[in-house]
Amino acid sequence: MVTINPPTERSCERCGREDMWDAEKQTFVAKTDNGASERGNPHCLHEWDINGKYNPLQPES
Ligand SMILES: [Zn+2]
Repeated sequence: MVTINPPTERSCERCGREDMWDAEKQTFVAKTDNGASERGNPHCLHEWDINGKYNPLQPES
């Protein structure tokens, strides 16, 4: 049996950026450590490790 756990985190396989799901904003926000600003390459075409597996923004029909 497969248990589906909606991801609350995602990471970029290209630049290493990590995001966390913000339930209030309903979007991913950059994970910060010690108040550090956004990590990763801002010009990176992020290749999220959850791409194609789960879309939290999929509209209900
Ligand atoms: Zn990236």
